[in-house]
Amino acid sequence: MRVHLTATAAAAVRRGHPWVYRDGIAGGGNAAQRGERRRGERARGEPARGDAAASGDVVELSAEGATFLGRGLWDAESAIAVRVFQRTQAPQLDERALAERLERAFALRDGWFAGRDTTAYRLCNGEGDRVPSLVIDRYDRAAVVRLDGGMLAPWIDRLLPHLARALGARGVRSIGLRARALAAGADAEGKKLAHLHGPPLPDRLFVRETGVAMEVDLARGQKTGAFLDQRDNRARVRALAAGRRRVLNLFSYAGGFSVAAALGGAVRVTSVDSASAAHASAQRTFRENGVDPAAHEFVTADAFDFLEKAHARGDRYDLIISDPPSFAPSERAKPRALGAYRRLHTAVARVLERGGVLCAASCSSHITAEDFLATLDDATLERDDLRVRAIHGQPEDHPTLPAWWEGRYLKFVVLE
Ligand code: SAH
Repeated sequence: MRVHLTATAAAAVRRGHPWVYRDGIAGGGNAAQRGERRRGERARGEPARGDAAASGDVVELSAEGATFLGRGLWDAESAIAVRVFQRTQAPQLDERALAERLERAFALRDGWFAGRDTTAYRLCNGEGDRVPSLVIDRYDRAAVVRLDGGMLAPWIDRLLPHLARALGARGVRSIGLRARALAAGADAEGKKLAHLHGPPLPDRLFVRETGVAMEVDLARGQKTGAFLDQRDNRARVRALAAGRRRVLNLFSYAGGFSVAAALGGAVRVTSVDSASAAHASAQRTFRENGVDPAAHEFVTADAFDFLEKAHARGDRYDLIISDPPSFAPSERAKPRALGAYRRLHTAVARVLERGGVLCAASCSSHITAEDFLATLDDATLERDDLRVRAIHGQPEDHPTLPAWWEGRYLKFVVLE
């Protein structure tokens, strides 16, 4: 099937942007080309105009003045209508081509983690590894696949033998699929993981991350089980914690930053998260690393409420980490998100000791680094003693493409 693009969408594809939104498809096409409905479906009052493509179909892209722009896979359901895989005619876009790209992604990582006491990392970062939609995270002997959108679901059975072989050669025994791709979402027990290959995956396991043990909840955890994108920043927090007495980790989830700070020398680490199950996991991680959780504090609370009370009590911290969930899931949500970051940072600055360090993170791709820094300015923090010591992002196992700005979502600002 051929999909004709608007001039704007065509320019983005030429730059190497891997997504074509539905409104990037030129109106001249039929309903099938605009992908408005799945096969056989029709909008109320809309006449049938030919057969629509199904999710996973290979489509060729064209535009005014360009008979061939590239090739991609059609998604009948999500806002992204086509994910672009190639801009060349050859080779054909089939499972062999995808398997080769995956092998390349895996081979790149082979050298990266040797000697780093790290058994959890991203094996394939979808678009950033030129395999749009396909994310694969490794947790020791288990690999978890996540499919963004619906276009690769029909491919997974054909890809599985290739995956099993390439991952098996690297010591991965089991492959699971994260629920976003499962029609039913979580199962009756709240598990969000389906078995694809090999021995059953454990519900949870310990992995190693730059020398630190970390419990990962494969069955019910967030993302594919852990926030692997903060690995290098957790190691940075460990170094920053040396000589700091009181550490506050806001939105602590499974306690990755908390245990890093405790191992780095912090005397008392306070972890705050609204989910109590996350704290149970964090405490098991503390113990696995030989740190007594009783010497630290785990608070189940809303971070904003906690900060207000901490300020009223006159509590102060020498190192604060703030890593909230995405406040801006869309461009439209951006102004509100900036307001929320400002409120958060104002409250954080009130409990940061003079001479203390603040690590402020944002994982919203719609918030640029400059936008985010503006939520940490003197007016917001109501103080003028801090400087930006460093701005970090995501680690090398989360590669992006120059044109794919959405892939560079993580900001980790260190102020001191
Ligand atoms: N820093 C973590 C990841 C944080 S994910 C890591 O490196 O692994 C965001 C966390 O914020 C989730 O665990 C979620 O339960 C928690 N959360 C969301 N809203 C919250 C709120 N208002 N107050 C406290 N915690 C919240």
